[in-house]
Amino acid sequence: MTYPMRGACQCGGVTYQLLKPPMKVIACHCRECQKLSTSAFSITALVETDAIEFQGELAHWERSSDSGNINAAKFCPTCGNRIYHFNPADPGRIKLKPATLDDTSIIEPTAHIWVSQKQAWFQIPEGVEVFQEQS
Ligand SMILES: [Zn+2]
Ligand SMILES: [Zn+2]
Repeated sequence: MTYPMRGACQCGGVTYQLLKPPMKVIACHCRECQKLSTSAFSITALVETDAIEFQGELAHWERSSDSGNINAAKFCPTCGNRIYHFNPADPGRIKLKPATLDDTSIIEPTAHIWVSQKQAWFQIPEGVEVFQEQS
């Protein structure tokens, strides 16, 4: 794997360089992530904020999570592709949506969270950490 690794939204208006490997890759099966990903789960790469550089305009949206944290989101204003999430109270890291990477081979989750809400047909792979709710 060679870094920096490039990523982009679907229209190319937002690009970024990931300078080093993510700290962790997590699959989240919660209902919000199913809605966001239009799939059975979303994949998040925890990345140190100073290990990634963005170019292009990003739009902003945020909601409160059940735990009371702010879940803030950055997305491309043209194509709507979600780029990353972050908690403003935890500025040292972001939650990159890593399907936007040019090379998606690094995005194998080692932890699955909110398994209590997962789709019944999806089988959790062997050898990963499993959490019924938040990790
Ligand atoms: Zn775009
Ligand atoms: Zn989720």
